[in-house]
Amino acid sequence: MPLTEARFFGAGDVRLLTAEPASPGPAEVAIAPLAVGVCGTDSHIVAGSFAAAPQVVLGHEVCGRIIEVGPAVDGLAVGDLVTVEPHDYCTRCTYCRLGQEHLCDDKRGYGVKLDGGMTERMVVPARIAYRLPDGTPPWIGALTEPLACCLHGMDQLDPRSGLPILIFGAGPAGAMMVALARARGLAPVVVLDPRDDRRAAALRMGADAAFDPASLDEATALTDGLGFPHVVDAVGAGRILESAIAVSSRGGRVLVFGVARPDDEARVRPHDIFARELTLVGAVINPYTHHRAVRLLPTLGLDRLRPAFYGLHQLPEALAAQRAGTADKVFIAPHGIAAARG
Ligand SMILES: [Zn+2]
Ligand SMILES: [Zn+2]
Repeated sequence: MPLTEARFFGAGDVRLLTAEPASPGPAEVAIAPLAVGVCGTDSHIVAGSFAAAPQVVLGHEVCGRIIEVGPAVDGLAVGDLVTVEPHDYCTRCTYCRLGQEHLCDDKRGYGVKLDGGMTERMVVPARIAYRLPDGTPPWIGALTEPLACCLHGMDQLDPRSGLPILIFGAGPAGAMMVALARARGLAPVVVLDPRDDRRAAALRMGADAAFDPASLDEATALTDGLGFPHVVDAVGAGRILESAIAVSSRGGRVLVFGVARPDDEARVRPHDIFARELTLVGAVINPYTHHRAVRLLPTLGLDRLRPAFYGLHQLPEALAAQRAGTADKVFIAPHGIAAARG
């Protein structure tokens, strides 16, 4: 039976097409995607501001059920609920050979360069399908990928428990950062976001306090005026980095996690970095954190987030909802909303 899939043809041009289902190769599995997260990257691809392969199937935050396994596949069976680690690496470049595959010269993301999950059927190598505990709601399962990215961010920040953290931005990533910060024993966990609903989401996820960015001084007062030893930019903007550095304590560590515009700039005083002995770290995607994210997933109370679901044919509405931020997280439900909710 033909299946429906959402393919990207160019800026502003996403088409729903039908295709004949492909069979999995010997070491591949076919998955019925049940919930596929819509993230900023998808919006940027469709807007033409993030490079993607022409005619690629979108969707990189995928949770689905296995419907067919290749003859050489071990350890996965039809009916298993899985999350996909959506990257392919060249395995031969210097970075790949140093265990830094996420910095690979020829990294290819599913849903960006390779066909992703916004389809009724997705075929992937079995080694990138990670089994989830039975009974995991598929939309929670689809959070594994963004959670794995947050986990890599936390690894890069390498915070010390018992000390404060300030998180700029309480979108889906910022909200998951809050949950991770709590799990790592950071206190207080303080969030800045201009939107009421996002501050509310941060508080639901366990933030101790959430302020409008205009109230930065009130936030800093929670550290007795010392500043924050840990600061996360979960927005991605030069002006946020400037504020993050300004509000760091001496010896502070600043994580650049949000995706800034490539041409955005920040004014940084080298003397600040030197005299206050600051550390600036970046984090991109999810090297070796997908496995750990699967294990953390049931412990973080991610069901406190408020999801919104759209069918494959409603992708434009889903992208608009993602951009507007009207739900905590937006999902495509290729096999219906009930199947995505679980
Ligand atoms: Zn994403
Ligand atoms: Zn490589």
